[in-house]
This record gives sequence, C-alpha cells and structure tokens, in this order.
Amino acid sequence: MSQPPYSQPKHSLPIPRREWFRLVGLSGAAAGLGTWAPGSCFPAEVGEPGGFQSSILAKNKVQENRANPTIVDGRVIQPQRELPVLHRTDVLVVGGGPAGVCAALAAKRAGADVTLVERYGHFGGLWTGGLVLLVIGHIVQGGKQVCQGIGEEILRRLDKLDGAIINRRPGANPTVDAEAVKYIMVEMIEEAGLKVFLHSWCADAIMADNKVQGVVVETKSGRQAILAKVVVDATGDGDVFAAAGAEFEHRSHNIGLVSRIGNLDRVDPERAKQVPKPRLLGSPTPIPGVHWVNMLGPEEDGLDVNVLTRLEMQHRKFIWRHVQKVRSTPGYEKVYLMETAPQLGVRITRVLRGLNTVRLEDLKNGTRFPDVVGVGGSSNGSHGPWQIPYGALVPVKIDNLLAAGRCISAEIRMADLVRLIPNCFVTGHAAGVAAAVAVQDGCTPRQVEVAKLQKILRQQGAYLGEPD
Ligand SMILES: Cc1cc2nc3c(=O)[nH]c(=O)nc-3n(C[C@H](O)[C@H](O)[C@H](O)COP(=O)(O)OP(=O)(O)OC[C@H]3O[C@@H](n4cnc5c(N)ncnc54)[C@H](O)[C@@H]3O)c2cc1C
Repeated sequence: MSQPPYSQPKHSLPIPRREWFRLVGLSGAAAGLGTWAPGSCFPAEVGEPGGFQSSILAKNKVQENRANPTIVDGRVIQPQRELPVLHRTDVLVVGGGPAGVCAALAAKRAGADVTLVERYGHFGGLWTGGLVLLVIGHIVQGGKQVCQGIGEEILRRLDKLDGAIINRRPGANPTVDAEAVKYIMVEMIEEAGLKVFLHSWCADAIMADNKVQGVVVETKSGRQAILAKVVVDATGDGDVFAAAGAEFEHRSHNIGLVSRIGNLDRVDPERAKQVPKPRLLGSPTPIPGVHWVNMLGPEEDGLDVNVLTRLEMQHRKFIWRHVQKVRSTPGYEKVYLMETAPQLGVRITRVLRGLNTVRLEDLKNGTRFPDVVGVGGSSNGSHGPWQIPYGALVPVKIDNLLAAGRCISAEIRMADLVRLIPNCFVTGHAAGVAAAVAVQDGCTPRQVEVAKLQKILRQQGAYLGEPD
C-alpha cells in the first residue's frame, strides 16, 4: 500500500509471458506493442512501468455500524442509528453544476469556509454530464451581456484553452467542449482551495426544528453526515429543500437525452446533395466534425425513478437507430455516434416556494427589486433584462438554506429562462455570497443585510443592473 505508484507489483504471479497473452486474449504481435515490465506478470500500462498494484486491506471483514432495515408486519422498517460525521463546514453547497460551482467559488472568495458535494465524479452538471454544450441566456435585447462575474470568468478561462469554446463573438451563443469545462472547473476549485466530496449523494437534510444543520450523504464509505451553518441547494431538483421540508412546486417538463455525433466533416458533398438532408444532425462543437444533438423528449415527471429508467433506455435506442439511419443516407456513411450523455436531460422537477418569485409580469414591466442579486438574460436576446430578487433564493419557512440554479422560486412561465446556464451562474453566484455573509454576520440567510450582499457581489464582478 505504501509503495510508490511506479514500483513493482507486490504480487507478481509466476505466469509465463506467453501464457499471460493467452489468458488476456491478446496476440503476441498486438501485446508486443505495449511495454513489458521485467519481473512483472503483467505488461505495464502505458506510462506505468510498474504495472498493477493491489493489496488486501482487511480480511474476512464484516461491515461495521450496520442498521439493516427489517420487515415488521410486512413493512420495511429502518432502525435508528448514529451517523458518523464526515466533515464540518460553514457553507455547504450541494450540487456541482453551473450554479453550485459558482456558489462555492463565490462563498469562498467572500471569505467563508466552503465545502462542495456532488453525486457524480465530475463538475458541470447538465452542462457537462448532460452534454448541454450551448450557453444561451447571457445577453438581453440590444446585445448587452448581463451574465458577468464568476460565470463569465469560467467562459474567459475556456477562451484560453485550445478547442474549449467557439462562437465567443459579442451577441453570439458560445458552445463549449464538456471535457474542457470539467477541466477548468477542477482548476478553479483547486485554486480556490475548496473542500470537495465527489461521489456523495445527498439523501437527507439534518434538521433542528425548521433550521437546516447539514445533510446526510450516501457514499461508498457509507451513510454519513456533513454539518454546516448554511446550505446552498444547487441540486437542480431541490433535493435538499425537499428533504428539509420547504414548500415547493412539483413540475413535469420535457426530458431528453443529448448525444454527440462525429465525422460531419467527412460527409461526401456530391453524393449528399442528391438526397434530402437527414434530420437531427445537431450543431457544431469545438471539435471539428463533431456535433451535439439536443433532444426535446416527452413531458414527464423527472422525480419518478420508473420514468427515468424508461427514458434512459428508450432515448438511447432511439439515438442509436437514428444514427444508423443517417449512416444509410448516401454521403453520410462515415457519420457515427460518438456518445450519448451519461446524464439524462431532466429540465425541471422541484421549484422552491421562495420569499419572492421570478415572474413573467416583472420581466414585461422591467420591475426593479430593492434586493436585486442578478440580472437574467434570454436566448438570442429575445427579451429585455429581468431582475432576480434575493427573495427567490430564500425558502419561505426553512432557515439556514438557500436555493440556486434551475430550482429557485420562479413561475412556470419563467422556468425556461431561469434554467438557462448563464442564469444559473448568476443565481449560484448570488447564493454563494449570501451564504458567506450569513455565516460571517451570524444570521440566517433571510436576515442577510442586502446592501452588504450587493456590495460584495459587485466587488466580485457581478452585474446587478444599471444604477437608478
Ligand atoms: C436537454 C436539455 C437541453 C438544454 N439546453 C440548454 C441550452 O441549449 N442552453 C442553456 O443555457 N441551457 C440549456 N439547458 C438547461 C441547463 O442545462 C440547465 O438548466 C442547467 O445546467 C442547470 O444548472 P444547475 O446548476 O441549476 O443544475 P444541474 O446542471 O442539473 O446541476 C445540478 C448538480 O447537482 C448534482 N446533484 C443533483 N442531485 C444531487 C444530490 N442529491 N446530491 C449531490 N449532488 C446532486 C448533479 O449531479 C449536478 O451536478 C438544457 C437542459 C436540458 C436538460
């Protein structure tokens, strides 16, 4: 276990080289392309001269601290048990999507001790795991860019990477490469010194009356508690505020599955022009010849595990068969399915009932809120600016909790604007600073001094509209 990663494996088995090739099903010629680590039973992986390593960490182990549910009178009962405390923090952000990453970075920059929890193994949420690569909603009528601050900083850092982002002209909607976003988010999170737990699925909220005290996470190390002074729910689905007992609206929406297809730059133009162009060829990405293909999908309940299971399977079948159809079109034979998104495209599920709500009427009237914490944009600047009041992030009754991203308090008619990536950057940024201010001032998020919150947001580069 304590061996350096490039040393010899501890358990070299005396299998002759030829026998090993036979066991792993490689021909001598193919296997000969790799490096052979002398003294090892395994050929070394590229760049790993020592080959594999494995040790027995515990023998005949029985899982400790179990409290198995039992069946009592035909009902499954979970017994009471103590949960180990994995970590204590001031600000806990749950969900590492566009809103959560902005919230965590903003809270840290505002001076708080911050922890970010994410159920999957990467950051970016639907932007990366859902392959939703097109960033729309950062501009308003007339072309002014209203998404500034940390969201814009992420895009600027992508500008500096080769092959990370296209269409960064003023007024245009950029498209990113998901791997570049994952990379840049890790870089920014590490630079900021955030404490992170990946592979940690928030399963419950820890409560004292109506005050959130932390969350319970399910991990491969078991069910554990993370205690926090303020929690930001950036799960997109409001998992934390629902568990905490906050009021919310449960909505259905279209659920699709995004995919990427390749070799669009190898379509034979002469043969292709003799037939109608196939449908659903998507839009360009930073990788030449690779398109991302959005999918609307049916309106369904994204909180129903049966629905999620059915749609994952149905959509993948549809996409595979569709690409085969494209490939059978003269000129398009080389087009191939590169990947389906690992994450289903769930747009809206739970929406918080907040102290205030983002309303269409306010967009139309250009309402200015005294507690404005950001300005929302629209796809292709089809609307004017609309202010986002702080109250839309604060639950009506539950304390020590804020919402950010696509699950903030918003009318159903505004959901398709609120959920756009830049608008999630903006509400994430605001929630992060508000959480930090609440901790520093020893108050609840609803008691936060709005002028102070707005001042720090502006200092961090956020745009809160033009002064009166
Ligand atoms: C098919 C589709 C197409 C879209 N097209 C566009 C588009 O073209 N342009 C655009 O701007 N927007 C588009 N959107 C909207 C946009 O992608 C999302 O609304 C946006 O990513 C929401 O950001 P978020 O941070 O609020 O939530 P998410 O991106 O959903 O991130 C939430 C994060 O929380 C994590 N999480 C969830 N539950 C838990 C839990 N219990 N414990 C721990 N972690 C958890 C998730 O894994 C995820 O990382 C599209 C959405 C879909 C589904």
